[in-house]
Amino acid sequence: MTQPEFPIPVCVLGATGSVGQRFISLLDGHPWFDLVAVAASSRSAGKTYGEAVRWSLPEPMPKRVASMVVRSADDIPRVEGRIAFSALDSDVAGPIEKAFAADGRFVVTNAKNHRMDPRVPLIVPEANADHLTLLESQDFGEGRILANPNCSTIGLVLALKPLADSFGFKRASVTTMQALSGAGLGGPTAFGMTDNLIPFISGEEEKLENETKKILDDAHCIVSAQCNRVGVVDGHTLCISVELENEASAPELIQTWREFRGEPQELQLPSAPKHPTIYIDAPDAPQPRLHRELEGGMATALGRLRECSVLDWKFVALSHNTLRGAAGGAILAAELAVAKEFLPG
Ligand code: NAP
Repeated sequence: MTQPEFPIPVCVLGATGSVGQRFISLLDGHPWFDLVAVAASSRSAGKTYGEAVRWSLPEPMPKRVASMVVRSADDIPRVEGRIAFSALDSDVAGPIEKAFAADGRFVVTNAKNHRMDPRVPLIVPEANADHLTLLESQDFGEGRILANPNCSTIGLVLALKPLADSFGFKRASVTTMQALSGAGLGGPTAFGMTDNLIPFISGEEEKLENETKKILDDAHCIVSAQCNRVGVVDGHTLCISVELENEASAPELIQTWREFRGEPQELQLPSAPKHPTIYIDAPDAPQPRLHRELEGGMATALGRLRECSVLDWKFVALSHNTLRGAAGGAILAAELAVAKEFLPG
């Protein structure tokens, strides 16, 4: 790997939201990236970050960021940074991200708007680093757009990719139990979620079904998804049944997850977990409160592997939705793009 020039100036769009706050926290002291600007809506613009944000993470807000003035996300010249990490609401993300790319920025987005654009790589760094070459086909201007997949898709792909590589993957049925933070700071109310769950998340099932095919580069694989919102703060749990092309035993599947590594591990990227998939033997694992923070929230925890009487195997996966599923995954994808020399300019 050739050494890029560090630090690289970066900005966060949508910096005040649930995912934006994770970016602020993860970028504090990052060895490669230097946060130089924060942006959000016109409601927040002009205030200091400390005034604009309703900070909701357990760690303190980085002091340096608290005093930064929030810019309006469409005020592009005043939002400096070669890499623009976007945690914008998808109602506004599409055109703003395109405008940043036209201005020569490398946009790494968590919003859904550009994910299924055939020119845009939808990256889970351990699974499809080779898709970064799509960046070369883009015509958004001097800049580029790279997309981070849906937060549940990332956990599903990390669970399936090792199995697909070793045994071939045909189809899966997945039922999710998704955390409240996945709905953003304006998500469901306490009244709606107490003594209750909501068996509907708009657009989520289609995202899991379609994004998985794009990432695994397999138009023939079939995923059927059912998505539920539950009263967990962070961490999406997925109950997965899977049919494989070739026979495998339970110890072989578990070993495959335990040995799985990708380019981020080979390149020793700063945000790469040592073990992207961790199988836990306890009969009642994984659980959100106990296992969502494994490897800094960047590992997918797996457990409860057993035979399925409909497909071949069933098991449970758990992935942190705002860390691996959003800000952490996006930062890791940016590190991969930098390491593989895809950063324009
Ligand atoms: P959120 O908490 O609602 O935050 C939304 C952010 O967008 C805020 O910073 C908000 O700024 C900004 N914003 C809203 N309207 C705007 C406008 N008109 N112009 C500019 N900025 C505007 O949402 P979130 O959960 O962080 O999600 C952010 C994005 O990541 C969404 O596209 C979401 O689908 C995606 N995502 C979320 C998760 C997750 O687990 N939460 C996971 C993966 C992907 P103000 O504070 O100024 O209103």
